[in-house]
Amino acid sequence: MVRARKRFGQNFLVDETVVQRIVSRFAGEQTLLEIGPGQGALTAGLLDTGASVIAIELDRDLIPLLNNKFAHYKNFQLQQADALNFDFTALSQLAPLRLVGNLPYNVATPLIFRLLDHLPLITDMHFMLQWEVAARLTARAGDNNYGQLSVVMHNLCNTTLLIEVPPQAFNPAPKVNSAVIQISPREMPIVPPELTTDFLLIVKAAFAQRRKTLRNNLKGIITENAIIDAGINPGLRAEVLDINEFRALAEYHNTHAD
Ligand code: SAM
Repeated sequence: MVRARKRFGQNFLVDETVVQRIVSRFAGEQTLLEIGPGQGALTAGLLDTGASVIAIELDRDLIPLLNNKFAHYKNFQLQQADALNFDFTALSQLAPLRLVGNLPYNVATPLIFRLLDHLPLITDMHFMLQWEVAARLTARAGDNNYGQLSVVMHNLCNTTLLIEVPPQAFNPAPKVNSAVIQISPREMPIVPPELTTDFLLIVKAAFAQRRKTLRNNLKGIITENAIIDAGINPGLRAEVLDINEFRALAEYHNTHAD
């Protein structure tokens, strides 16, 4: 086994049960894009499903190891690249893509946000993430972890927390728990694109101070009467509002803006 590199966020998956649970989400006749194959813990099982696997790995030292290990698979392609700068549109001919990866913790959130710009190419994504991030991305209105990230994600995708994974499943073991989530793009965002600016402004302001009510957090953006007119109680906190209620506020803001 090669030494794990901290700067690449390398925590290699060693628990076969977790590997199998992730791999069982896939079947042949699909194009899978694996981010960060590492030493191939997931890649082997993914290739055995018969799917075509394109893997993007940043660490140059792992490239020969991966190429040797999977040389006999015709359905394997490896690219040495940084997923954060990768041109995903270059793969549009291979779409629809299913993405999968045990993501380095510092890469996960910026990568997922980049991928939100490429949703038409993507059927779904299965990512292993730090548990806190997984919880925020999958939270529903009223959950403790529900916030800006949850609302913005829910507008574009359905998200499900699939598997909770303890530190011992990795070598070296990280300090935090992890979880695998599925992100499936919606056919259409819930908030129509022409309301995106209003929506993002309202979501950001509404969660600016979690313990404050909408009436207070939205001061200067939308009046108390306007909140009521949009059908929402201004005495509520943002954390209980679902995506449709944020959409109603965005609509109201858009049609009543100066
Ligand atoms: N998939 C392997 C596993 O489960 O054992 C490795 C997972 S490890 C948490 C993350 C992998 O992503 C490492 O192999 C690391 O080198 C790679 N990596 C880190 N930053 C990356 C980036 N920006 N683009 C592509 N790969 C990256």
